[in-house]
Amino acid sequence: MKITFLGAARMVTGSCYLLEADYKRILIDCGMYQGSKLIKTFNEREFAFDPKLIDAVVLTHAHIDHSGLLPKLVKQGFNGRIHSTRVTKELCEILLPDSAHIQESEAETANRKGMRAGKPEVKPLYTVDEAETALKHFETHTYNEKIELYDGIDFTFRNAGHILGSAFIEFSITENGKETKIVFSGDVGQPGQPIIKDPSRVPQADFIITESTYGDRVHPVYDREEELRKIVVEAVARGGNLIIPAFAVGRTQIMLYYLKKLMEAKKIPEIPIVIDSPMATKATQLTLMNPDEYDDEAQTIYNKDGNLLSLPQIRFTQSVEESRALNFMPSPMIIISASGMADAGRVLHHLKHNLWRADSTVLFAGFQAEGSLGRLLIDGAKRVRIMGEEIVVKAKIQFMEGFSAHADKNQMLEWFRAMEKRPKAFFVVHGDHDAAFNFAEELQRNLGTATAIPQYGDSVVIEGTDWHMETSHLIPEELPEGQELHEALRKFERDIALYKTRIEQITARDSSKATDIRKKIEKAKKYVDEILKNV
Ligand SMILES: [Zn+2]
Ligand SMILES: [Zn+2]
Repeated sequence: MKITFLGAARMVTGSCYLLEADYKRILIDCGMYQGSKLIKTFNEREFAFDPKLIDAVVLTHAHIDHSGLLPKLVKQGFNGRIHSTRVTKELCEILLPDSAHIQESEAETANRKGMRAGKPEVKPLYTVDEAETALKHFETHTYNEKIELYDGIDFTFRNAGHILGSAFIEFSITENGKETKIVFSGDVGQPGQPIIKDPSRVPQADFIITESTYGDRVHPVYDREEELRKIVVEAVARGGNLIIPAFAVGRTQIMLYYLKKLMEAKKIPEIPIVIDSPMATKATQLTLMNPDEYDDEAQTIYNKDGNLLSLPQIRFTQSVEESRALNFMPSPMIIISASGMADAGRVLHHLKHNLWRADSTVLFAGFQAEGSLGRLLIDGAKRVRIMGEEIVVKAKIQFMEGFSAHADKNQMLEWFRAMEKRPKAFFVVHGDHDAAFNFAEELQRNLGTATAIPQYGDSVVIEGTDWHMETSHLIPEELPEGQELHEALRKFERDIALYKTRIEQITARDSSKATDIRKKIEKAKKYVDEILKNV
C-alpha cells in the first residue's frame, strides 16, 4: 500500500492524504489552504489525483483546513461517500456553506474590479449550492465503531478531543495476508479543555501520521478561569465594554462556559453578555444539542441545569442591525464576536467603536498570527486601520495565552509514550517547518522511533511493517523558504506602515528632523538595492 502526502506537508494547512491499498483509493481529509494570499492560491491548482477515481473520503474533523475542499472534490466528479462522525457532519453543515459564501463574495469583488480592468471573469472555488451537494455524500458513524470500508480495509474513529466531533482514525489494512495498522492523528486536542472530552488513548499501531502544530512549543500552565475573572472585574471597573474576539467554533463556547461559571458563583458582576456572530450562535446551539460529547465536569453542569451555556444575561444577535445597535447600548457589557484574530467579521466594527475609548477593554484569547490585527494590537500598536479608517488605540488590550485546541509538544509526546508498543515510524505533518523538524527530533529522542517529514507529493510505500519513502514526482510548490520570505515581506509591509506613523509623529513635533530622516531612508533604500543586486 501507499500513502501520498498531498497537503499540510511542512505546513499547518490544507490537510490531505491519499491512501492506496488493494486497488482502492481513499482520501483522508480534503482541506483548504488558509492563510496568506500566496498559500490560498494552492486551492486553485488541480488535484494531484483524478477525483473521479477516489473511492471514499474519511474525514477527521470539520475545520476548513481539513474539510474545505470537499465541495471542489465533489464538483470535479468524486462520487463516493464521505465518512465522518455525526457531529463533524453537523458542523460541516454550518462551515462548508459559509466557506462557499466567502468564495462567492470574493469572486464577486474580484470581478467587479476585474471587469473595469478588462480582466477575465473569476469563478468561485465552489458555490453554496455545490457545498450543499457535497454534504449529501456524508455517511456518519459513532466513535469506536469498527467500519468495514472494503474487504480487508477497516477503520475506526476515536475521540481526538480537539473540537466537537473531532476524531483520529485507526486503519487496519490486510494485504497479502499481512495486517498493518495505521493511525492518522488528525488534530489532537489539548487535554483539560473545557466542555469536550480529552483525546482517547492511541491504540497500538505500526505507523502514525501525526500532526505537529505545537511541535516546538509548550502551553503555559495557569488558572484560566481565575485570569478571566480578573480581566472581567477590571474591565467592568473601567466602565466601558469588554470585547472578546473569538473563533466561532470552540473558543466562543469555552468563553461562555467560563463566564457562566463565574457569573453563577457571583465572582464577576452580572452584566449583559452578547454573542454577535451568526456562526458562533449556530456552533453554540450545536454544542447545546450534543451532551454526549461533554466531559465529566460539563456533564455534571448539564445534569444539574439541563443546559450547559445558558444564563439570563446571555443573548445572541441575529441581524446586522441588531449588531450595529450594540454600539448605542449602555456600557459595560461583554461582546464576543468573530473572528478570533480580528482580521475579518463583525468584531471589526466593535473594535472600531471601542478601541478609541479609554474605558473599554479588548481581550484576545489564544494565538495571534503575524500580520493579523490581533497581533498588531497585542504588540502595542497605538494606531490601527480598520475598514479604511484610522483608529487610535486607547482601550486596555489584554491577552490570555494557552487557549489552544491543540496539544503541545509535551502533551503529544505523552500521548504517544502511553502506547503499549512503539510504532515502526512516525510521519510528521501539519506543522510549520520548525515545529515539524523539532517534533520529529523529539519523537526520535524520546521514543527511539524512525521519523520522516514528508514534502508535498512524497509517498511512503508500506508492505506489512516494512516501509520506504518515495520522493515526489510532483513540482514542490510548497517551498518553505519561499513562504517564509513571503511572510517576512508581509511583516515588513506592516512595519513600514508603523515606521511611517512614527516618523510622522516625530516630524510633527520637530519638523527640523525631516531632512535628516529623509536622507537616512534614502540610504536604507540604497542598501536594499545593493542586496538585490548581489543575489
Ligand atoms: Zn482542527
Ligand atoms: Zn488542522
